[in-house]
Amino acid sequence: MSDNNEQTQILTDENSLCKIPNFHTHTKLCRHAEGMPSDYVKAAKEQGASMLGMSDHCPYPESMGYNWDNVRMKVSEIETYIQAVNQAKKEAPFNVYLGFECEYDKNFAFWYKELKEKYGADYLVLGPHWCVDGTERIYIPEIKHDLRLLHKYADQTVEAIGSGLYDFVAHPDLFMMGWHDWDKETESVLKAILDAAVDKGIPLEINGLGIKRGIVDANVGPRYGYPYHEFWEMVAETDAKVICNSDAHNPEDVIVCARNSRKFASHFGFKVIDTVF
Ligand SMILES: [Zn+2]
Ligand SMILES: [Zn+2]
Repeated sequence: MSDNNEQTQILTDENSLCKIPNFHTHTKLCRHAEGMPSDYVKAAKEQGASMLGMSDHCPYPESMGYNWDNVRMKVSEIETYIQAVNQAKKEAPFNVYLGFECEYDKNFAFWYKELKEKYGADYLVLGPHWCVDGTERIYIPEIKHDLRLLHKYADQTVEAIGSGLYDFVAHPDLFMMGWHDWDKETESVLKAILDAAVDKGIPLEINGLGIKRGIVDANVGPRYGYPYHEFWEMVAETDAKVICNSDAHNPEDVIVCARNSRKFASHFGFKVIDTVF
């Protein structure tokens, strides 16, 4: 559908001034991003937002034995997050929504529900970053060519999609950033995730941060590590829902990277959804 030159193009289209939404946004509370919701609203206004969803990495209750605070807020910081989103709502000329990006663990189904029911989250994002293997957690782009872990990741992601807890799947092809090559295994794993998303009617995300992270040298030529061209060609042959987001960890990326995601989508003729509601 597009050739290798298009894979290496800078996708930012400065002439594209229409206002667009973004539902994947972080804050400095996760300890690896910059800015608070008000900073994202300010930048989103300048960059042309139609609506903004905040979706910082969710905290996990310490009592459950998850010690994962290095890349996420603590439970004690939820109120700070909610108040900051509420403040940002007052400052925005567009709708702002409260969300969380969550890993999947069936033992935490109660907690994900609580994020919605008790803390009032408008939506939850499935962000599968880690493969849980016994007591170990392996960062998905680092599974390299370990087929056992690849299939474990696929099984966990398919189960997560089936749980009905989430409103869309962030970067379903994130592991390709480390895997690089397109082969039978990667195709079958991504097909399983795609089928699950189609079955459940859950949108799949073309991730703008992946585009910002750039090109890898793959067996099929230069490719974005993610969003991975061959996967999205497969998606284009189904009636899967597609959402385009920035996954901003810095206000300067908030809408700019979502635009890059839409530009990528345009190569495949996707009709991108504009809201998760
Ligand atoms: Zn992050
Ligand atoms: Zn994210």
